[in-house]
Amino acid sequence: MNTKGEAPVPLIQACDLVKAHGRNEALRGASVDVRAGEILAVTGASGSGKSTLLHCLAGIVRPDRGSVTYGGQRLDLLPEKRLSELRRTDFGVVFQFGQLIPELTAVDNVALPLLLAGTTRAAARERAGEWLERFGARGQQELRPGELSGGQAQRVALARALVTGPKAVFADEPTGALDSLAGEQVMTALAHTARDSGTAVLLITHDARTAAYADREVRLSDGATLAAEVTS
Ligand code: ADP
Ligand code: MG
Repeated sequence: MNTKGEAPVPLIQACDLVKAHGRNEALRGASVDVRAGEILAVTGASGSGKSTLLHCLAGIVRPDRGSVTYGGQRLDLLPEKRLSELRRTDFGVVFQFGQLIPELTAVDNVALPLLLAGTTRAAARERAGEWLERFGARGQQELRPGELSGGQAQRVALARALVTGPKAVFADEPTGALDSLAGEQVMTALAHTARDSGTAVLLITHDARTAAYADREVRLSDGATLAAEVTS
């Protein structure tokens, strides 16, 4: 509730999304909304459409039907150029399989979004180092992705998604390769970011301990969101 007693307007809102991959209907009527400063967990069985939903909300994949609204504008209708600009300035994405750039060291992977936004190399590397430290990965700064464990790579991918101070973060099973201590460290940092910076976080997870950090949880089943949202 805001000072007028109204429920806050969601930063991101998806309505009745339908998306097929060939003949495979990954989404068949999924609706979610995420507010600024809120962590929304998306759970559901493997193959239920979680990653496809995240890709639609982050403007990476266009839904076949339904709408995605971000800050009052229809993302699904934006021209590609505007969309990729918005993704760069406003969104941070952690893909399910990390997708770090193999030729770059950990710190340069994290610094890359800042360099693309025009930050000087020295300042970008310094800020990247701070984010790696926050995720407990400072010691891996000069290693390349091929030299990192799955959990280390996951922390680097998270640092890269957060380094620009995005308004919305989309994280696809960001703790899947982490042990419970590292998972807690990552989720604590993510929760602080949502609270302190008002970042909207959409978090896909299989893990109940990770979902417990969320403000709300929504379940997907066969590409559709279940009507009842479960409050953690
Ligand atoms: P989840 O993340 O919940 O495991 P996904 O969104 O990855 O679910 O996938 C939902 C369904 O769509 C699955 O049946 C999956 O096999 C299918 N699918 C996802 N991506 C593709 C793709 N690029 N091409 C074909 N089928 C896909
Ligand atoms: Mg997935």
